[in-house]
Amino acid sequence: MMASPHALCGAVAGARSGSVAVAAALGFALHLLVDCVPSWEPWFINPAQSAVVLGDSLLALVLVTVACRRAEGAVRLRIAVGAAFGVLPDLLHLALVIGIRWKWLAAFEVVHQGVQRPAPPELSMALQAVVVLAGWMLLRREARRKIATEAAA
Ligand SMILES: [Zn+2]
Repeated sequence: MMASPHALCGAVAGARSGSVAVAAALGFALHLLVDCVPSWEPWFINPAQSAVVLGDSLLALVLVTVACRRAEGAVRLRIAVGAAFGVLPDLLHLALVIGIRWKWLAAFEVVHQGVQRPAPPELSMALQAVVVLAGWMLLRREARRKIATEAAA
């Protein structure tokens, strides 16, 4: 999947986790789990796909930034860490592409690429949009729950 579903899944897991370490572990593990869903993986092979990759990455950055701004201190950090570790495996892939050749990185990439299956772009984009929307709604619910808890206290 692309960056925004991974970032939102990691952000939601981070918001619900009890610590930064758990947020990081959940974000990273969820990346591999979400990658098991067949999806279209646009890449920088032509201008149209490059625009999709960059637009999706910008969307992820904006949504996570807004979610962090709405959250309070500890949850804010867990959202940011969950989202960052949610996209980390794809950033590690980018490290290989630019020529970094650590053995552990190559071994991890075998696993990372091994779980991914291709899917038609139209179906994949619709599914990824649903994942992003669901993640965004869960983050908003988390913010409202926090406000309600504070009002009751
Ligand atoms: Zn991936």
